[in-house]
Amino acid sequence: MQASHVFHRQLTHDLPVAVSGQGITITDSQGKTYLDASGGAAVSCLGHGHPDVIAAMHAQIDQLAYAHTSFFTTAVAEELASTLIDTAPKGMSHVYFVSGGSEAVEAALKMARQYFVEIGQPQRKHFIARRQSYHGNTLGALAVGGNAWRREQFKPLLIDVTHVSPCYEYRDQRADETPEQYGQRLVAELEATIERLGGENVIAFVAETVGGATAGVLTPVPGYFKGVREVCDRHGILLILDEVMCGMGRTGTLHACEQEGVVPDLLTIAKGLGGGYQPIGAVLAQGRMVDAFRRGSGLFQHGHTYLGHAVACAAALAVQRVIQRDGLLAQVRERGAQLQQIFAREFGDHPHVGDVRGRGLFWGIELVADRASKQWFDPALKLHARIKRAAMEEGVMVYPAGGSVDGRCGDHVLLAPPFISTPDELAQIVQRLKRAIDKTL
Ligand code: PLP
Repeated sequence: MQASHVFHRQLTHDLPVAVSGQGITITDSQGKTYLDASGGAAVSCLGHGHPDVIAAMHAQIDQLAYAHTSFFTTAVAEELASTLIDTAPKGMSHVYFVSGGSEAVEAALKMARQYFVEIGQPQRKHFIARRQSYHGNTLGALAVGGNAWRREQFKPLLIDVTHVSPCYEYRDQRADETPEQYGQRLVAELEATIERLGGENVIAFVAETVGGATAGVLTPVPGYFKGVREVCDRHGILLILDEVMCGMGRTGTLHACEQEGVVPDLLTIAKGLGGGYQPIGAVLAQGRMVDAFRRGSGLFQHGHTYLGHAVACAAALAVQRVIQRDGLLAQVRERGAQLQQIFAREFGDHPHVGDVRGRGLFWGIELVADRASKQWFDPALKLHARIKRAAMEEGVMVYPAGGSVDGRCGDHVLLAPPFISTPDELAQIVQRLKRAIDKTL
């Protein structure tokens, strides 16, 4: 292959060249096909080449590809926003469109800060977030994120954020605690942190409803988010839930927070919103926050050139319509239960699979050197990255997580197959992954 001039994120080895995608597979220039078991990075919820989405994008391009949002709104952006608000958590009234997950988080952080300026509480400056979390790679998002490895060299550039413990049942729940008691201990830690900073100084608590890219899917214990919501309310602090990865149906409900019975003040979504057909993300905002902006300065002081891009909105609208029309949320729940059975069969007594956890079609596999002690492998071995490469050789795409420099992140594999995956495809995914793990360890 001719030398590449693309500044690839990984510069030490060549990548296969993807040439086409159909259903849950991608084919490279050598004719090899890969099962897309991670939907890229939990993006491709409808798989590849979906005719309805492609037709909607063509129609929009033919009509109008782009109109800058400081001059115009478009019918397609309005329709997508209405569709999202119709199915949004209670009280959400408006959608702020962006081009991806990090942009959604940046917008949410600034929206939260400006909201307090608008209502006369400009002293609020602090964000609280969680360790072992991921909220994106731009500087604000990286600052709230708690992946030590990703943050390390950029620390001098990051705003000051206080990090509390993640909800990591497999590792951190004590033997003498129920999951509920563990959750309440975490809530108490959050409240103590808020009190230490002074509740009147804190803007928001930021969390992924189901953790994704850092510790290989972390599901919340029962009652945890209800407790978090109560603490935030007690101190007048906003709750920002980041569902860029776990949202838009991935866990079996449109929004993961529905399963927790909590409503955030701001909700970030991306990835599955456009299913990879176009780059698009969004922040869903509570009506009372939007009202404060309207009554106050009348302007959210933020914005990017491509926000609300018409073709991106058309793609996302089509993706969401297919999900509704084809009953794919119910299918995610059904396939999730089938996947869980396949995991039990293939990994139930695997000596190096410490934990398999997830919801719907969003699963993390935590690898350990020893199941009894839960001892991680030496991080220097970079097993998660090697498993990813071995899986590609086996013809399956899986998303690796790990590599934290705080010694707490171990090696994880994340699976997020398209909602259209068949039971047979799910079985093939797990069998190929198992071969890749066994070849690597
Ligand atoms: N937030 C979460 C929870 C994510 O998982 C990600 C990406 O993995 C992001 C934000 C950043 O999204 P993007 O990569 O589209 O900027």
